Amino acid sequence: APPPIEGDFYRIANVLNEGERALLRRVRDFTEGVIAPLIEEYWGRDEFPFAIIPKMAEISIGGVGYQGYGAAGGSWLLNGLVAMELARVDASVATFWGVHTGLSAGSIYLCGDEAQKQRWLPSMMRFEKIGSFGLTEPLVGSATSGGMMTTCRREGEVWILNGQKKWIGNATFADVNVIWAREEGTNQVKGFVVGKDNPGFSVEKIRTKMALRVVQNGLITLKDCRVPEPDRLQNANSFKDTAKVLRMTRTGVAWFAVGCQMGAYEHALRYATERVQFGRPIGGFQLVQDLLVRMLGNVTATQAMMLRLGQLQDEGVMRDEHASLAKAFCTVKCRETVGYARELLGGNGILLENHIGRFVADAEAIYSYEGTREINTLIVGKSITGLSAFV
Ligand code: FAD
Repeated sequence: APPPIEGDFYRIANVLNEGERALLRRVRDFTEGVIAPLIEEYWGRDEFPFAIIPKMAEISIGGVGYQGYGAAGGSWLLNGLVAMELARVDASVATFWGVHTGLSAGSIYLCGDEAQKQRWLPSMMRFEKIGSFGLTEPLVGSATSGGMMTTCRREGEVWILNGQKKWIGNATFADVNVIWAREEGTNQVKGFVVGKDNPGFSVEKIRTKMALRVVQNGLITLKDCRVPEPDRLQNANSFKDTAKVLRMTRTGVAWFAVGCQMGAYEHALRYATERVQFGRPIGGFQLVQDLLVRMLGNVTATQAMMLRLGQLQDEGVMRDEHASLAKAFCTVKCRETVGYARELLGGNGILLENHIGRFVADAEAIYSYEGTREINTLIVGKSITGLSAFV
């Protein structure tokens, strides 16, 4: 009998209870049944399949790990495994979900006051209103903590925002745009929820991406954009509050890197058992088995790392440097693993219809967004040496 096509070699999903495993099965049915058949076509066309949004609501994956406000609830570990399952089939769909329920709704969950959470979160958890998260700028990427150029100033009960935000996932259609800006005079970082119809708010789609092509990234321009005071996130008072959101979502990106590797490994394993050269399946050659076992080692090592990180998150003791180490390490391993999968498929590895090309491209974006490997390395480096290498 052929070996089972299975990227959870150490059965890490077995640590979940039956109800949690049922959610993961629903996610797998969704990714296999809905996402897999359409994704290459949409990826090729650089378009977002809007019909998947209500299906995400149906399987209740809005706000896994959040408590209340119509969120799915459950543990952070479960949130991670959902992220992994989504990315196992497609990292763009995982990113759409991560930006919406993680970065955007997460900013409101962590930095909004009670009234703001009641106002925005339930419809976001039902995927009726979609969110984006605007932190990065055209001239300020890694250095947003100290160098953000987008400004805000208060005029009575209204805030005036000026600046640009680049790379903002979902921004071309999002209803709830979380925008981070520096207050003129005080230099304090504040967060705002900006609607797509706010005066002074406009978005241009970023075209010609070679990775995560299904994610619709926008360049947001804020020109004397007027935001009422009740739409300012009441508990966001400095970049430390922004960093709380990033700590949570970087963990999710590390899980994406695990899922992406699982998907690539499973495609490669299937191919190795089917592709015949020199009269036998290529999976019977020692060098091909070496590629498969290297991939499986990376998948399993990163799963084990993330399992423990999820436990730290659930115990409430996960720190920035824990999340940063995982984000940097898992995305490095992801690049390596998808490269091996590409190698195993030979020339067929670069054809979109064989999936691996998409994984290879997407691994590049995951590697750089939510803090590049260098930036996450410096966060860990500062923690372990007590010496900051940041200027
Ligand atoms: P830069 O900061 O210009 O860095 C260029 C290079 O210099 C990198 O290799 C970097 O590691 C290195 N570097 C910089 N500073 C140092 C240093 N001190 N020491 C050593 N090396 C250094 N942002 C959002 O706000 N919202 C989103 O939804 C969003 N989605 C994204 C989706 C995609 C597909 C991509 C590609 C990006 C997205 N981003 C988003 C932006 C992303 O977070 C940034 O691209 C990332 O933080 C890096 O910034 P940068 O691209 O401007 O690179």
